[in-house]
Amino acid sequence: AAKAAGKSAYRRCTPALRESAVGRAELIADLRRAVDEQQLHLEFQPIVDLSTGTVRSAEALVRWRHPRLGMLSPARFLPLAEETGLILPIDRWVIHEACRAAATWQAQVPSATVAVNIAAAHLQRPDLIATVTEATAGAGLAPRALTLELTESALIEGSDAVIDRLGQLRELGIRIAIDDFGTGYSSLSYLHRIPATELKIDRSFVARLSEDTRAYATVEMVTRLAGAYGLGVVAEGVETERQHDAVAAIGCVQGQGYRYGRPAALDELRTVLAGSAPATVSDVAESGLTL
Ligand code: C2E
Ligand code: MG
Ligand code: MG
Ligand code: MG
Repeated sequence: AAKAAGKSAYRRCTPALRESAVGRAELIADLRRAVDEQQLHLEFQPIVDLSTGTVRSAEALVRWRHPRLGMLSPARFLPLAEETGLILPIDRWVIHEACRAAATWQAQVPSATVAVNIAAAHLQRPDLIATVTEATAGAGLAPRALTLELTESALIEGSDAVIDRLGQLRELGIRIAIDDFGTGYSSLSYLHRIPATELKIDRSFVARLSEDTRAYATVEMVTRLAGAYGLGVVAEGVETERQHDAVAAIGCVQGQGYRYGRPAALDELRTVLAGSAPATVSDVAESGLTL
C-alpha cells in the first residue's frame, strides 16, 4: 500500500524502512570501493565429466567480504552492481582473476579450463573483446581455456552487433555457454543465431527430476538438442546421488553441483583437479560445431 501511495507515503514510512534505504545507498558506495580495496574474491566450483568422473573445469563465482556485513553472496550485491554499472569493473576483475587461476591449474592439468559469468551489459560493449584477450594473454592462458557464461535473457535481446561480437570471441577460441538454460523464453530460434559451445541446464529442472516427469523430459530434450547441435551440455545443481544417476543415464556430458563439490577456495580446487585427473591427460575435446 505504501508503495502504491508513492513518494509521500515513503517519507512517512517506519524508521526501519528508512534505514534500509540508507543501507542501500551505503552499500552502493561500499561496492564502489570493493574492487580497489580487494574485498572481492572468487570461489571455484568443479564441473565434472560424468562418464569419467574427472574434473577439468571449474566455474568462478564472485564473493564480497564486506568490512562490516561479512561475506555477501552474489544475490546480495549483483543486482545493485548491475543497476549502477559497477558490474563492469567487477566482471573485468573476475575475468582476470579466473584466467590467472586457470593458468596455475594448467601447470598440473594442462587441459584445465575455467568458466566465468558475464552480465548482459558486457555484450553491449565493444571493449569486451579487448578485456577478454588482455586477460587470457596476460595470464598466458589459451583463449579456448576460457568459457563465458551468458544467460538466455542476455542473449535473446542480442542485436546483430552483439551476435557479431560473440562470433569474434568464438573466432578467438573463447567458449560461450548459455547459463540457466530453459528458464528464459521458450523460443529455440535464437539458438541458431548464437555461436554457443555449450548449454547449462538450469538447476530447477535437475531439482525436480525424480518427481516431475516434465522436468525429466526437459533435461532429456536439452541433452539431445545439445548433442544434435554439437554443443556441450552441463547439468547444474546436481545435489543427490539420485539426480546424478538420472543425469548420467540421460547422457548429460558434464555435471556441476554439491554432489561433486561446493564452490571452494582456489587451493581446494587445485587439490580436486590433481586428485581427479587421469594419469594421461587428454586434451579438452572442442565441441566444435558452432551454429
Ligand atoms: P550461476 O552462474 O547459475 O551459478 C550457479 C549458482 O548455483 C552458484 O550460486 C552456485 O553456488 C549455486 N550452486 C551450485 N551447485 C548447487 C547445488 O547443487 N545446489 C544449489 N542449491 N545451488 C548450487 P552463487 O555463487 O550464489 O551465484 C549465483 C549467481 O550469481 C550465478 O548463477 C551467476 O548468475 C551470478 N554470478 C556469480 N558470480 C558472478 C560473477 O562473477 N559475475 C556475474 N556477472 N555474475 C555472477
Ligand atoms: Mg554460471
Ligand atoms: Mg547457472
Ligand atoms: Mg543461476
